[in-house]
Amino acid sequence: MAYKALYRKYRPATFEDVVGQQHIVATLQNAIKNNKLAHAYLFCGPRGTGKTSVAKLLAKTINCTAENNRPCGKCPNCIDIQESTHPDVVELDAATNNGVDEIRDLIDKVKYAPMQGKYKVYIIDEVHMMTPSAFNALLKTLEEPPAYCIFIMATTEPHKVLPTIVSRCQRFDFNKVPTQLIKDRLRYIADQENIKCEDGALQLIAEIAEGGMRDALSIMDQCIAYAQNDIKASDVSAVYGIATTREKMELFECVSQKNTKELMEKARNLSNRGIDLQRLTTDLINIAKETVIYNYSHDSSLLTVITEEQANEIAGMFSVKELLESIDYLMDVSVKYKEATDSLSYFEVCLLKMVNLTDDNKPVKVVEVKQAPKAEPKPESVQVVVKQPEPEKPKEPVIKHLSNEELYRILTRSKKDIREKDSARWPELCRETSGLENTRIMASSENDMIVVVPTREQTDIINEENKQKVLEELTERKLGSRKSVTAITTDQKILLISYFRERTGPIPIIKEEPREEVSETEKRLISLFGKNGYKKVED
Ligand SMILES: [Zn+2]
Repeated sequence: MAYKALYRKYRPATFEDVVGQQHIVATLQNAIKNNKLAHAYLFCGPRGTGKTSVAKLLAKTINCTAENNRPCGKCPNCIDIQESTHPDVVELDAATNNGVDEIRDLIDKVKYAPMQGKYKVYIIDEVHMMTPSAFNALLKTLEEPPAYCIFIMATTEPHKVLPTIVSRCQRFDFNKVPTQLIKDRLRYIADQENIKCEDGALQLIAEIAEGGMRDALSIMDQCIAYAQNDIKASDVSAVYGIATTREKMELFECVSQKNTKELMEKARNLSNRGIDLQRLTTDLINIAKETVIYNYSHDSSLLTVITEEQANEIAGMFSVKELLESIDYLMDVSVKYKEATDSLSYFEVCLLKMVNLTDDNKPVKVVEVKQAPKAEPKPESVQVVVKQPEPEKPKEPVIKHLSNEELYRILTRSKKDIREKDSARWPELCRETSGLENTRIMASSENDMIVVVPTREQTDIINEENKQKVLEELTERKLGSRKSVTAITTDQKILLISYFRERTGPIPIIKEEPREEVSETEKRLISLFGKNGYKKVED
């Protein structure tokens, strides 16, 4: 026996079978019982909510030869309407037949009495797609239809239907079917079909269907084709092209372990399975975001996409800084997909950037440098040094990344008076080399300096290896001591200060006056960054 799609097989046979549109069903049943049918109906509502099904039920009920105001499903009228072969029930899809000729043709036939049933029923789907002239042709007929004639127009976009048409119709608004009702119906169907279904699987299908019963049944059909008679939540994820949380966690795991081979394999497999990379990227952003939130709040009630256990798992793999920078990369790539012909490449590069972030335990400069210019660069040759063309193939720029711990150590070494002294001369340095625009010294010690810059791109420019050399020369010449300059963004600065509080917090408070309003940590923060620079963090 040929397989019949579920949404055909379980199309409602009676009004009682219609899910989630009780208000409409009750009104129509009363109208039928009391013989108060309108000549034109407008069924509005999202796709797959039962508009056409109800239209057909209405056509059956009023043409059925049985006598209890409900379709028997057995008489020739019921059967022919079910099979779409009834001569008096005309279904027209305005999305494909939207022209005035089709409507004229239809209207021409309106004047002939029904051949087989009591009523001629015209079901026009996607009626908003009709051209204005077709609308106008229809309008005349709607004004004075023959007594045996009923129009049922369905639309997902009622605002596009001419108001003159709408005003001649009885309008019914179909609602999205609540997830629970979809789930109940799916459970019923699964039982009827003798299919074992995990509760989570049905929940997932119902959620993906977003209020459309027909969509839910189509998804279920695909899952049956994939998983046969035992459907699990993971099958639904696989079929519908969404990665499971476990798979997303595994991506993070590969990133943290720098297992690029497996990471690339996983990314490719997901893509080959038809997983929507845009959606996957958004999911990864949400997982990283929730982990950061959890990291700060330790409040598991704020978690919606991952469990507390999973948040802890991710938090164990990455620092907050790494997660936030990963979010940056993921958001960047999320925008780029729209114009990408090969989304997978973009996704892979993004993952590689995330791998590169987790460099904290490595020494500052990883790649060996072959021909580092040793000669003292003259001030005007500064930019030439940075952009100097490589004789061989172009090399990836080497950019240093310091962990919070390393930055913290710089902070503990830095001194207020050095910062103030350096800050006074800083504008002079900014004039002498590019890339320092809008930078501010956050902290400075004998050998190190942290500057805050507005954008991530600018941190890369300053923290790039060649630029670092230039800055070391420059600080030696202008500030009197050779300093390693590290640039961070304002966001990173906020995180760093939180980190500083965590690390430094308890000790001085216990040691020194505990009742003082301003703790030693705060005092130290103020002394390091100045009252204003530090206050900004609080805003
Ligand atoms: Zn019948």
